[in-house]
Amino acid sequence: MNITLKDIIGLAKELPEESFAETYEKLKEIKEKVDAEKEDAPVSCPKCGSISVNRNGKRNGRQAYICKDCGKTFVETSGSAIAYSSKRKRVETGDPGHGRRRADRQDG
Ligand SMILES: [Zn+2]
Repeated sequence: MNITLKDIIGLAKELPEESFAETYEKLKEIKEKVDAEKEDAPVSCPKCGSISVNRNGKRNGRQAYICKDCGKTFVETSGSAIAYSSKRKRVETGDPGHGRRRADRQDG
């Protein structure tokens, strides 16, 4: 599907007023479907790799899931693990915060 919501809204504006209400209802249905699809982005079980998972409430504000195949519960990672590790890396490799040499800076 290549039609974006913006395209649809643009088309809707061209419609005669009597069709608008009906179309608007349809658009709302479509948008709800699109939103539902977004939320149903493929999530796979970290243990067995199954995508047969059910939502299982929230954990620390993140969507939690339960695997229908092995029963494993897990949360959506959405890059936060990566963010955490890169932050840690910066601490490990960053300068110690004193004795900083100006010669190291060649930009600016
Ligand atoms: Zn599983």
